[in-house]
Amino acid sequence: MANVLKKECFILPEGIIYLDGNSLGPMPVDVPARVAGVMNEEWAQMLIRGWNKAGWMAMPGDVGTAVGRLIGAPAGSVVMGDTLSIKVYQALASAVKMRPDRRVILSDTGNFPSDLYMAEGLVGLLGQGYTLRTVAPEDVAGAIGDDIAVVMLTEVDYRTGRMHDMKAITEMAHASGAVMLWDLAHSAGALPVDLTAANCEFAVGCTYKYLNGGPGAPAFIYVRPDLVDTVEPALAGWLGHRAPFDFDLNYKAGRGIDRMRVGTPPVLQMAALQEAMKLWEDVDMADLRAASIALQEQFIQEIEAQVPQLILASPRDPHQRGSQVSFRFEHGYAAMQAVIDRGVIGDFRAPDIMRFGFTPLYLDAGDVTAAVTIIADVMNGNLWDDDAYKVRNAVT
Ligand SMILES: *Cc1c(COP(=O)(O)O)cnc(C)c1O
Repeated sequence: MANVLKKECFILPEGIIYLDGNSLGPMPVDVPARVAGVMNEEWAQMLIRGWNKAGWMAMPGDVGTAVGRLIGAPAGSVVMGDTLSIKVYQALASAVKMRPDRRVILSDTGNFPSDLYMAEGLVGLLGQGYTLRTVAPEDVAGAIGDDIAVVMLTEVDYRTGRMHDMKAITEMAHASGAVMLWDLAHSAGALPVDLTAANCEFAVGCTYKYLNGGPGAPAFIYVRPDLVDTVEPALAGWLGHRAPFDFDLNYKAGRGIDRMRVGTPPVLQMAALQEAMKLWEDVDMADLRAASIALQEQFIQEIEAQVPQLILASPRDPHQRGSQVSFRFEHGYAAMQAVIDRGVIGDFRAPDIMRFGFTPLYLDAGDVTAAVTIIADVMNGNLWDDDAYKVRNAVT
């Protein structure tokens, strides 16, 4: 197993062990200079000429290609833009249009609420009997029938880390004539993904989690290459038009994946992400996965040995789990606040999940042991039982 550790490439505050790269990745060292360069040399000096001279207009496709390399998507099948919620809506609306004789969108109760809310909003707008059907994650396979237009799932459960089998479920969806949409929010940069092998029609994901693109970094959307010139983009913005600067009064979808663009790209965020993506150029995802599993297994073993009151909420089999480990504890919110106060940053997910993300580019075995020591102190000394830790912040 090749070493994937490159701590020196990230800004990691002194005294912090960061187990929350699954929510917001840390800042790569080279990002501030890159963003400053775009501001000072491009925006300030070139002004509007930057769109052509500095290649701003091509960034959504260029960065999409870099993201695509990590998820088994060929160049020209991924483009960046908007936020993940918007890309979920866009992909879902496009997918539904591909099966006009069917009315049901199938998802599961482990999906991230925003994905389900976007689907609810879409079916409400469509009317005509369209519905969103959600079943328990383990019941998805049995619920795929010939009334399903689209199966929409997130590969890795944000709360527990439980993984769906992308290839098997996609095959089942296709066997029953449904379109498959995968959300890779907790997969891209966390584990190997092969969209070409999975053969799904659509995939979407965000880049501020494991890809370290920074708060508000643009999302990605993938369309299977054989569909990319025929799919209806649903969100028909001017930059997805075939010739935006013709200012045609009628929409004509653009060529290839460009049709999934909507409006003006966030150039500063795109620059930060483009710089962050350079860190992946020499990373073998199989090595990353092996390192992630080793860290997670060490963490579970040490926590269970020292803190038996924490109950594993993630699958015990590492191959059924993404790159996070979650434990249940009744006072999980207060406990996580107390742990954070002592320099170990994880997060809390209602109702009782303490969630820890493992990111082998900047975490090693020593960090895991140090984190467990702090968690054990908090838990075994009941240090969480303090009113200061019980007041909920807006962002957990
Ligand atoms: C993080 C996450 C989101 C967040 O969507 P934004 O629009 O980027 O805020 C959506 N879906 C899933 C599955 C996520 O994990």
